[in-house]
Amino acid sequence: MKKLIAFISICSILFSCKGQENHNNDTKSYAINKTEAEWKSELSDFEYYVLRQAGTERAFTGEYNKHYKKGIYECKGCSIPLYSSEHKFDSGTGWPSFYKAIEKNVDTSVDYKLGYARKELLCGNCGSHLGHVFGDGPQPTGKRHCINSVSLQFKPTE
Ligand SMILES: [Zn+2]
Repeated sequence: MKKLIAFISICSILFSCKGQENHNNDTKSYAINKTEAEWKSELSDFEYYVLRQAGTERAFTGEYNKHYKKGIYECKGCSIPLYSSEHKFDSGTGWPSFYKAIEKNVDTSVDYKLGYARKELLCGNCGSHLGHVFGDGPQPTGKRHCINSVSLQFKPTE
């Protein structure tokens, strides 16, 4: 009987490990790797919806849409610098827009949520969803990084 119990517990350990592996297969690993419970306790419900479930805030509602102070926009999830006020422009779309990111700190992935491919932007350090990049931005890059205000926190420069 003892052997049987030991066998069952080994099986359940094996299965639970396997379950986790499957779950992580389609998730890229990042330097900051928190559990869903940790993210939920650190973020508001709306922040969690945008950052961790790739939600989108309504146009013209975000704190940084018409925000042009000098400084750095950091990731709300992990505080790494993502965008500079130097590269921000008014796209008229209702979301904060930048023609470039702080190099290497922003990661891209492809998302098919609307039925066609869009290039998703994620924090390169914690994998939080930021927004999308489009090819109709101003020079010198021609890119428009369309970012949710709620994914960012602003740090003014002196
Ligand atoms: Zn981050």
